[in-house]
Amino acid sequence: MTNRRNFLKTGTIATVIGTSLVTSFVQTAEAKILGEDEPNITDDNGKFILPKLPYAYADMEPNIDAETMEIHHTKHHQAYVDGLNKAEEELKKARENNDFTLVKHWSKESAFHGAGHFLHTLFWFGLAPTKTAKPTPSANLLKAIEKDFGTFDKFKAHFIAAATAVESNGWGILAYQPFGKKLAILQAEKHQNLSQMQAIPILCLDVWEHAYYLKYRNKRKDYVTNFFNIINWEVIDRRLEKAKKF
Ligand code: MN
Repeated sequence: MTNRRNFLKTGTIATVIGTSLVTSFVQTAEAKILGEDEPNITDDNGKFILPKLPYAYADMEPNIDAETMEIHHTKHHQAYVDGLNKAEEELKKARENNDFTLVKHWSKESAFHGAGHFLHTLFWFGLAPTKTAKPTPSANLLKAIEKDFGTFDKFKAHFIAAATAVESNGWGILAYQPFGKKLAILQAEKHQNLSQMQAIPILCLDVWEHAYYLKYRNKRKDYVTNFFNIINWEVIDRRLEKAKKF
């Protein structure tokens, strides 16, 4: 699904670099990232939108009923989209006015609605209609699952147990851990915990007291401010480029 914005972005990069070889590489890379199964979850202005689903609500019957699918998508997911846009607008206003009085509140809202928007998108686009869904993964994924969980049946039992045992609201998640180069089954209780799932960290600062207390005591803000004197921006830039290829 190529939209105008992605086309323009590709075109601009290609024009700047100016060789057909690089152009085709850029286009290939973009196509890989924004493959046909990948949804548009922002509009041309960068505002978040509810993605259109690549199937009908009734296609998951009898596994998930059509009414549930429709309400879940058009009402629940839409509310996360609206909430995330609102949080981003308010945080923009805070930056413009240099007034961060409510930064804690809007950060929480951004985490809650952002995690909701991204996880629901991953959920919807990970579903296949009952008629065409296959019972086991393709060879490549199956190999990875067998390496990290033993067998597909063991993985399945583990995932079902973990997802079932999530306390209250939340998610069962199969994730790839790049540091360990391993798959992991995770439980996400609620889904925000002040973070947004699928966000890839590129710049991190430890703000546990052990990281600054001997020198800064209770003045965490001074520590955070001085952190900006010691950042390796080249590393952060490279991480951003890697993350964009995710
Ligand atoms: Mn939901």
